[in-house]
Amino acid sequence: MRAAVLREYGEPLAIEAVDRPEPEPHGVVVDVEACGICRSDWHAWMGHGEWANDQAPLGQILGHEPAGRVVAVGDEVREVAEGDRIAVPFNLGDGTCPQCRNGYGNVCQNGRALGFQSAAPGAFAEEVHVPWADYNAMPLPEGVGARDVAALGCRFMTAFHALAHRAALTGGDWLAVHGCGGVGLSAIHIGNALGARVVAVDLDETKLARARELGADEVIDASETARVPKEIKIRTDGGAHVSVDALGIAETCRNSVFCLRRHGEHVQVGLTTDEEKGEVSLPTDRMAHMELSFHGSRGMPPTRYDELFGLMQTGDVDPGKLVSAEVALSDVSDRLAAMTNYETDGVEVVTDFEN
Ligand SMILES: [Zn+2]
Ligand SMILES: [Zn+2]
Repeated sequence: MRAAVLREYGEPLAIEAVDRPEPEPHGVVVDVEACGICRSDWHAWMGHGEWANDQAPLGQILGHEPAGRVVAVGDEVREVAEGDRIAVPFNLGDGTCPQCRNGYGNVCQNGRALGFQSAAPGAFAEEVHVPWADYNAMPLPEGVGARDVAALGCRFMTAFHALAHRAALTGGDWLAVHGCGGVGLSAIHIGNALGARVVAVDLDETKLARARELGADEVIDASETARVPKEIKIRTDGGAHVSVDALGIAETCRNSVFCLRRHGEHVQVGLTTDEEKGEVSLPTDRMAHMELSFHGSRGMPPTRYDELFGLMQTGDVDPGKLVSAEVALSDVSDRLAAMTNYETDGVEVVTDFEN
């Protein structure tokens, strides 16, 4: 089958013929109908993450936001059958460790990161293997298309988990979103659906226009604003209740903490680049005095997908709205390169695996 393989960091992915996956006893194989392209792929492609022991190895098939149809099922799998249409989280839990058993499969201590580790080849390929399928495979509700679910992939569910489970965003709160890429736009759309008022920050007019379309009440162009936190405090009458760093550079992380009102909650979703190497300095005295919270957030446990599918079925959220382009497997390298200069807009999804 065709797959896009990481052979050298920062160089075009190699489109190669590789063996089709065979299911492990606890796994299933999925015929990939769609797979989103994400900034996490870009980080892996650039060779980032070495500082957090999180660098994707050379030889890795990237791609971690798949949706598709099950075509082969391991002997031990009970809940998933051939022909089922499923989505999976990128952070696959084993279903049995204390984290998984307590509902935190997204931080499973024996988990595999789909598309980032050699034990979990990714979904920029015609087929992908999903381990521990009874725990990780989420059946798609009727009428939900693969393209929309690929957009839900990691960014939408990451944003939902960040706002609804890690922070406690509630109706009427002010939410600040720093960075309007895929996960930032997802946070804006979800924040809006949850009844929050949203202020969006970016350097790019097109992204800010999209932020408005997705429900941002206020937008701030950081390229024209000397002090972003101060501007947010003015627009939100005292500061955000919840703020998300959806980019992962020192400036957006610090702006996010500084724009909070007393007792506010910051959620770190974006991962840093080789500028920060995973470390950002923060105003800890201020955080203590104001009782600010700093939450890390990673993906979403599979056990909580139902909440998001419910919001999709009522029409309150529509991840498909974020999709800006459908592309072919051989386009992935170009689209990753475009991310280097933040030239992509919204969520791009691979739907053609033959070209
Ligand atoms: Zn586990
Ligand atoms: Zn992703």
